[in-house]
Amino acid sequence: MEHTDVIVIGAGPAGLFAAFYVGMRGLSIRLIDPLPEPGGQLSALYPEKYIYDVAGFPKVYAKDLVKGLVEQLAPFNPLYALNERAETLEKTEEGFRVATSAGKVYTAKAVIVAAGVGAFEPRRLGVPGERELEGRGVYYAVKTKAEFQGKRVLIVGGGDSAVDWALNLLDTAQAITLIHRRPQFRAHEASTQELLRKAEEGALTVLTPYEVRRIEGVDRVERAVIFHNQTQEERVLEVDAVLILAGYLTKLGPLAGWGLALEKNRIKVDTTMATSIPGVYACGDIVTYPGKLPLIVLGFGEAAIAANHAAAYANPSLKVNPGHSSEKSEEKASA
Ligand SMILES: Cc1cc2nc3c(=O)[nH]c(=O)nc-3n(C[C@H](O)[C@H](O)[C@H](O)COP(=O)(O)OP(=O)(O)OC[C@H]3O[C@@H](n4cnc5c(N)ncnc54)[C@H](O)[C@@H]3O)c2cc1C
Repeated sequence: MEHTDVIVIGAGPAGLFAAFYVGMRGLSIRLIDPLPEPGGQLSALYPEKYIYDVAGFPKVYAKDLVKGLVEQLAPFNPLYALNERAETLEKTEEGFRVATSAGKVYTAKAVIVAAGVGAFEPRRLGVPGERELEGRGVYYAVKTKAEFQGKRVLIVGGGDSAVDWALNLLDTAQAITLIHRRPQFRAHEASTQELLRKAEEGALTVLTPYEVRRIEGVDRVERAVIFHNQTQEERVLEVDAVLILAGYLTKLGPLAGWGLALEKNRIKVDTTMATSIPGVYACGDIVTYPGKLPLIVLGFGEAAIAANHAAAYANPSLKVNPGHSSEKSEEKASA
């Protein structure tokens, strides 16, 4: 059994910033996350997209924001339990016990749940060839644009992700075809207009209402068979990659059984980010309260509240109010 003052469940932006604040209060921290790297949705889903609404950054790549968060937290020597999912949360006499999918048990005096949208996985199409060629030409996210360098890419989807990546990969891919099962796009109006303008200019091909029938290839994707969902007419596209951006399925996962008061699959918190279990706080996309918005900047604010309350719970000699970081000595503000 390994002990820290506070355990943070989920190493997305909210969890990372909460951990930073716990560290600033002089307490030890462990972060647990089933993903192989910190950053949550930013690392897993859109590392190379710009974010425009983080205070103080006119624009910042998602991966750079994560890098900054990890760097800001590093001086406090957080312990990372990556590739591990928190499975159970139990109250004990001394605090809490968290058991993970790796068979480990961690204890702490207070817990912060920053598990985002829970366990998320891409929405698959369920067509022949898709599973077999996953990672060998079938992708559900763009990890690096370089993966698509010089490739003929079929993008499937009609939301922001599909439309944004179709535009974003124009300077990287050899050829892009985007198909969507409806004539209307769900993406922002301005991006959709730009997509259609680029298609008119011949920069890429947009086909609606088309769907994928099957994906073919021996070792890698070689072609995709698509069909018009009204006329059933089939077309064969010679492609090197199929990028399926049809959204994500989210499951609360094990959290649902931890006895926390929930509302519509979100953890209910009060204004101190306290959950219904004393000593367990929460922040980020996982929480709900009147007026909640699922935005990174709100997650940061909630993380600061959750962390300072959790710190005072874990060590009652601490005040909740951390004071101003600018008034701390250089060593203390960065550990
Ligand atoms: C394509 C896209 C673009 C976006 N653009 C913007 C934008 O421009 N501006 C903006 O403000 N927001 C944007 N968002 C939303 C933003 O990414 C989220 O609001 C943010 O990631 C929430 O942070 P979080 O830390 O609460 O959760 P997440 O980033 O979801 O991180 C939660 C972490 O918890 C982990 N976890 C889940 N269950 C467990 C468990 N049982 N045990 C341990 N760990 C667990 C997950 O693996 C994950 O790493 C965008 C989202 C997407 C998908």
